[in-house]
Amino acid sequence: MSDLLTRLERAKAELEQAEREIAQASCAEVGHRWNFVGGRNAGCELIGCDCSVPVYECATCGDCDYGHNAEAAEALRVCTEKMILEDQDYEPRACTVCGATTSSEAGKLCRSYQIPSGDYTCDGHPEEESYPDGRLRFLSPAGIERINAWVEEQVAADRENGQA
Ligand SMILES: [Zn+2]
Ligand SMILES: [Zn+2]
Ligand SMILES: [Zn+2]
Repeated sequence: MSDLLTRLERAKAELEQAEREIAQASCAEVGHRWNFVGGRNAGCELIGCDCSVPVYECATCGDCDYGHNAEAAEALRVCTEKMILEDQDYEPRACTVCGATTSSEAGKLCRSYQIPSGDYTCDGHPEEESYPDGRLRFLSPAGIERINAWVEEQVAADRENGQA
């Protein structure tokens, strides 16, 4: 009897293994059958953002994409654009040196140079990353004020530490 049970256990294990292999082979051949199993944050840096990207699990082999898919990449792109547009520390304006307002204008105007991303920038110190529509991005008065306040804070802290 125990011999029969052992054979049964072995047969079951073999059957499960075969089923797994068939599932994997079928996925390799015809692709995963993705099922939506929930959402997670896109991993964006926008504070308080309620963005969500879908997570898929394969109905055949049980593989999970953990939210690494084209929809997630698109969600992250949208969030990044929103973050750039909403950031009050920066503003779109014309370059004070050459008058360019977009990265392509900066490419044609004075003292421009190409940055690694392929966009052009110039000596008026726009940010490396332009707005999504190509407008040059500069520190705004609010942004400059914030940086100055931060620097003053650091200087004050250093002074206090020096006296202590
Ligand atoms: Zn699969
Ligand atoms: Zn987001
Ligand atoms: Zn310029």
